[in-house]
Amino acid sequence: RAKSNPLQRICFYEAGMDERVRERRALAADLRDAISRNQLTLHYQVQTIVSTGRIRGYEALLRWTHPTRGQIPPGEFIPLAEENGLILAIGEWVLRTACREAATWEPPYTIAVNLSAVQFINADLPSVVRAVLAETGLAPERLELELTESTIFADRERSLEMLRQIRELGVSIALDDFGTGYSSLDTLRSFTFDRIKIDRSFFCSSAATGQTMAIIRAVLALGKSFGIPVVAEGIETYDQLSMLNAEGCEEAQGFLLGHPVTMEDIIRKGQVARVEEAA
Ligand code: C2E
Ligand code: MG
Ligand code: MG
Ligand code: MG
Repeated sequence: RAKSNPLQRICFYEAGMDERVRERRALAADLRDAISRNQLTLHYQVQTIVSTGRIRGYEALLRWTHPTRGQIPPGEFIPLAEENGLILAIGEWVLRTACREAATWEPPYTIAVNLSAVQFINADLPSVVRAVLAETGLAPERLELELTESTIFADRERSLEMLRQIRELGVSIALDDFGTGYSSLDTLRSFTFDRIKIDRSFFCSSAATGQTMAIIRAVLALGKSFGIPVVAEGIETYDQLSMLNAEGCEEAQGFLLGHPVTMEDIIRKGQVARVEEAA
C-alpha cells in the first residue's frame, strides 16, 4: 500500500518542495518588472483617534496585482523582494508614491510607511527619505516610518544610528507589531520611538482573556510613561473600540474603522480633503 510507505511519502514531499521553489523563483522574476508594468499599487488604511473619532492619517499598504495570478499578499512577495534585493527599489517606490499622495492632503493628516529590515540597514535610507521629502514637499512631521522588532534586531548598533539620522530629519518612527518580537521591553529601553502599535494578535477574538487585557493595559501604561501614543491594530468590533476608549488608548486601526482601500475610494467617501479642494 503506497500510502503507508514512508519513503514514497518523502519523495512526494520533495517533489512538492521542488514545485514550490520553482514557483517562488518564477514569482521573484515577475516581481522584477512589477514597478515598470504598473502592477504595484498602494492601499490606505485609516488611523483613527479613539477619543474623538477623528482621522489622524493613513497607513500605506502595498498591493501587487500579478497579471495571471491576481492579488498576491505582501506577506508572500515582500520576503521574495528582500531575498533578491528588489525591496530597495520597491521600498523607495512605496515611499515616494505615499509621500506624493500625502502631500496633496490637507494638513495635518499623516502618512505611515512600512520599512523592511533590508531597507533599514541600507546606508542610503536617510538620504532617500530626505530626497523624497524634498521632491514631494511633504512636511517631515507628517511622515511616520513603521519598523518591527525583527527589523531592528538584525543589527542593533547600526539600527540605533539609522534611527538617530531619520529622527533628525523630523520624521517619526513607530514600533509596529509590538508584543510579537523576542525582546520587546529591551527594544523599548534602547530605542526611542514616537509611537507603539500593539500587534493585532492581541485583539483577535480568541485573545479576549484576562491575561491579554493585562498585557494591553501594561503596554498602554508604558506608552503613558514614555509620553508616546499607543495604536491598537486589528480592531474589528465596537466592543474592542469602547474598551480601548475606556482604557485610554490613543489611536486605533482595523476593519471596523476602515479596510485598506484605494485613494479613490477614500476621496469618494470624503474621508480626506485635498489641499486643492480646501483652497
Ligand atoms: P502591518 O504593517 O502590521 O499591516 C497591518 C496588516 O493587518 C495589513 O495586512 C492589514 O490589511 C491588516 N489589517 C488591518 N486591519 C485589520 C483587521 O481589523 N483585521 C485583520 N484580520 N487584519 C487587519 P497586509 O496589507 O496584508 O500587510 C501585511 C504586512 O505586510 C504588513 O503588516 C507589513 O508588515 C507588510 N507590508 C505591507 N506593505 C508594505 C510595504 O510597503 N513595505 C514593507 N516593507 N512591508 C509592507
Ligand atoms: Mg505597519
Ligand atoms: Mg502591524
Ligand atoms: Mg505585520
